[in-house]
Amino acid sequence: MATQMKTQVAIMGAGPSGLLLAHLLQRSGIDSIVIDGKSREEIEGTVKAGIVEQPAAEVLVGSGASSRAMNKEYEHHGITFDFDGGSHRFDFTKLVNKSVFLFPQHEVLIDLIAARIAAGNPPLFEHLAEKIIDENTNNPKVVGKTASGEEFEISADVVIGADGSASIARIAVNGSQTSGYFREYPFAWYGILTEAPMSSDELIYSRSEEGFVLISTRTPDVQRMYFQCDPTMDPNSVSDEEIWAKLQLGVKVELKRGPIFRKDVLRFRSFVASGLRNNRIFLAGDAAHTVPPTGAKGMNLAFSDVLWLNQALNAFFNEGTESLMDSYQEDALDRIWKAQNYSYWMTTMLHIAPDATEFDKKRQLGELYSVTGSEYARQYVAEGYTGWEYGAAWK
Ligand SMILES: Cc1cc2nc3c(=O)[nH]c(=O)nc-3n(C[C@H](O)[C@H](O)[C@H](O)COP(=O)(O)OP(=O)(O)OC[C@H]3O[C@@H](n4cnc5c(N)ncnc54)[C@H](O)[C@@H]3O)c2cc1C
Repeated sequence: MATQMKTQVAIMGAGPSGLLLAHLLQRSGIDSIVIDGKSREEIEGTVKAGIVEQPAAEVLVGSGASSRAMNKEYEHHGITFDFDGGSHRFDFTKLVNKSVFLFPQHEVLIDLIAARIAAGNPPLFEHLAEKIIDENTNNPKVVGKTASGEEFEISADVVIGADGSASIARIAVNGSQTSGYFREYPFAWYGILTEAPMSSDELIYSRSEEGFVLISTRTPDVQRMYFQCDPTMDPNSVSDEEIWAKLQLGVKVELKRGPIFRKDVLRFRSFVASGLRNNRIFLAGDAAHTVPPTGAKGMNLAFSDVLWLNQALNAFFNEGTESLMDSYQEDALDRIWKAQNYSYWMTTMLHIAPDATEFDKKRQLGELYSVTGSEYARQYVAEGYTGWEYGAAWK
């Protein structure tokens, strides 16, 4: 006999999307249950995104989800593009009077989980959803199994698929996990974590004849760096010496080296699910769309969906109207496609495709010089990077 649970909103996934939504709903007295197949330790220990846009940081701090996201120590006022032997800085404060915060995603999750626990409604970890049933009724249910093999069923008024890029909630919404709009890229990122001091106060995005490099940071003592690689590359097929040589390619500052304690190959793609809603089931975050990481848009974009859903569910449960649930897809897609464009554009502008011709490479340099040489174009980069204002009200 499966354990039976009942709630207003069943949320599949304790990532940034699921946890922020549960936090916001609770502020308006809406009950939710968040489940995740992983353990709390795994979720809090997995290093993913790094950059929180200013509007996203304002939501985290302003809603009481995190008191740390806008700390001065995490604030970055610009980024640099290194290409063709030169360095070109984008001064965000001067260009758009905004900044970003290098507050890693797992730290965001630590704060969001702590907020759920403090509210007396902790996520149910090690609860893996297997499917959504009764998806065409007003009482959908999430069924699954715990890590110890016990079956559970959550009966809800609304189900949110916030279950990431391999979402199974998509099946209940679109009939398949893959139905949607895709773009694959012929390259990936080779990423390392190294115990070393920061090589630069701000992020460096480098484009050279050999490809893309990103010099990023996690803490003053741990650095995150990436270089462009083949998607099929084995992370253990290169020596540390070769890794440092590849990371240095095209980067003007001398990198500060230290022991490398993690190596991984991150494949990426652009994807938007064909539909974001079926009756009382909604997709949010990476379940609804994924973007290549170059524009640092994933988690920040996920928050946009969450804010639209929060507004729609408030109207539904507290005012009895479905109108904002009806407009969710259209509302959310506006920013989703803007972010898709920005992420695609940053990716193709800074990476070298394996089949790039001399014409392609020279045109790309023309594009980079056009962007860095124009105040308007630099403003566009800065505006997108620091984050467009969110459309949904949340205060
Ligand atoms: C290298 C890299 C760098 C990035 N950098 C940035 C950045 O700087 N800024 C930024 O904004 N974004 C960045 N991103 C993207 C960002 O990490 C994602 O967009 C973000 O995690 C999406 O949040 P989410 O909650 O929608 O999904 P996820 O974080 O994937 O969370 C989904 C959760 O659902 C759980 N789950 C999945 N299936 C089930 C199931 N069947 N049952 C129960 N639980 C389930 C998973 O365990 C997971 O915890 C980066 C990503 C990568 C890979």
